[in-house]
Amino acid sequence: MPAMKVAVVGGGISGLATAYFLARSGCRVVVLEREAGAGGTIRSYREEGFLWEGGPNSAAETTPVIDELLGALGIRGQRLYTAEGAKRRYVLRAGRLHALPTGPAGFLSTSLWSTRGKLRLALEPFVPRARHEESVAEFVSRRLGREFLDYAIDPFVAGVYAGNPRRLSVQAAFPKLYELEQRYGSLIKGALLGARERRKRPDRARPAARLFSFRDGMATLPNALVAALGDAVHAGARVRGVAATGGGFRIVFDEAAAHGEECFDAVVLSVPAYVAADLIRDWLPALAGRLADVKYPPVAVAALGYRRADLRRELDGFGYLVPEVEQRRILGTIWNSSLFPGRAPEGCVVLTSFLGGARQPEYALRPEEEILHLAHEENAAVIGLGAPPMFSRVQRWRRAIPQYNLGHLATVATVEEAEGAHPGFYVCSNYRGGIALGDCLAGAKRTAERVLDRAP
Ligand SMILES: Cc1cc2nc3c(=O)[nH]c(=O)nc-3n(C[C@H](O)[C@H](O)[C@H](O)COP(=O)(O)OP(=O)(O)OC[C@H]3O[C@@H](n4cnc5c(N)ncnc54)[C@H](O)[C@@H]3O)c2cc1C
Repeated sequence: MPAMKVAVVGGGISGLATAYFLARSGCRVVVLEREAGAGGTIRSYREEGFLWEGGPNSAAETTPVIDELLGALGIRGQRLYTAEGAKRRYVLRAGRLHALPTGPAGFLSTSLWSTRGKLRLALEPFVPRARHEESVAEFVSRRLGREFLDYAIDPFVAGVYAGNPRRLSVQAAFPKLYELEQRYGSLIKGALLGARERRKRPDRARPAARLFSFRDGMATLPNALVAALGDAVHAGARVRGVAATGGGFRIVFDEAAAHGEECFDAVVLSVPAYVAADLIRDWLPALAGRLADVKYPPVAVAALGYRRADLRRELDGFGYLVPEVEQRRILGTIWNSSLFPGRAPEGCVVLTSFLGGARQPEYALRPEEEILHLAHEENAAVIGLGAPPMFSRVQRWRRAIPQYNLGHLATVATVEEAEGAHPGFYVCSNYRGGIALGDCLAGAKRTAERVLDRAP
């Protein structure tokens, strides 16, 4: 019996990892990637002694799949966990940085929330469950109060999704939070009662998971996958269409300026939702319609390098997030050189600020010079900078991160229906099952297992 022939469309981390798990199990896999290099939004650059990231800066070790994969690829030794001090995270309020509390004592003493805001939390266990799909903003203000929404969840949502809590669906974007309410009737009760059970699980909730990167940055992971997949990765191959044929799937693509067509036993779509919509429009118009509606607001990443002597403040933590009510022009800043060693030359630091997102998309679309100027000014106002940056770069994502907005679960259900109706058709991408790298890798493993379950 010949090995199953599988096409993976899109060579971001979701596609590469799916292809790797399939190839390891004996499938004949081809990864078709539009760009000259694979890795999708994961980009690490080493320039002028600075190491900066155009996409993810770190990943949370939320699933055992990560360690297993790193071991199999032989890159465990290159992994770096964040420094202990990086646990400290700040939120901006009234122009000042306030450390997010990490325990009950810190919660009582923090100046981030008012006494009234803290007292409001005491009512949480008595708030009844919701009966309809709610936005993150509705859910949080109902359960925890408005101040907690503004000065905890809103900045967190900006940091993870570059999203708008009034549009994100709590059930789709933060399923664990939603489950706590459903199961225990209260987030506080759920956090206390569920702690022992969660400790027994192999996967880790984000706050408990360790953060890591690699000596040479996040691109180490996709690079290792590409190396392991060898000839299976076709970079510069842009897929134009996917459709079912008798018993298989026909993929139409352009590679090296030539037009190609090939049939496969199975196909995994690992491209963004708006691309997938274009590829399947003629074949699955209903699914294409839903996928085309998934929003990806733009984000600009500004990397700024400074001499440590020009900083008026010690960068003693992960960085800071900016609530919308503060009306600033960035979403937040990561203090990269406080997270991992080797990110900046001796005596220097590198920061990464994020602009745009669903909150202020226009800032991400400004000219690069302006983005850098805005990022420098905003950081100067918060941490104090005595000189302009000695190093600066911008990475712009015109369509950055999929928004799990209200109605997203119905989109995912349509994906599942299409998979059920067309055995051999799979979707594995960050608009399904979570946007974090750990979620993408766990999704890739699950997808590969589903493909293999069908193998003859
Ligand atoms: C600025 C930014 C910061 C982030 N920070 C973090 C972080 O700190 N931690 C974290 O865990 N996550 C972070 N994320 C999220 C995480 O990086 C992504 O969710 C993840 O990398 C997505 O991987 P993917 O393979 O699903 O999609 P993508 O990376 O989008 O890959 C899709 C691939 O499909 C290819 N493609 C598109 N069209 C075609 C076509 N027609 N034919 C063939 N190929 C095509 C693309 O070129 C691309 O390589 C961040 C994301 C961004 C944008």
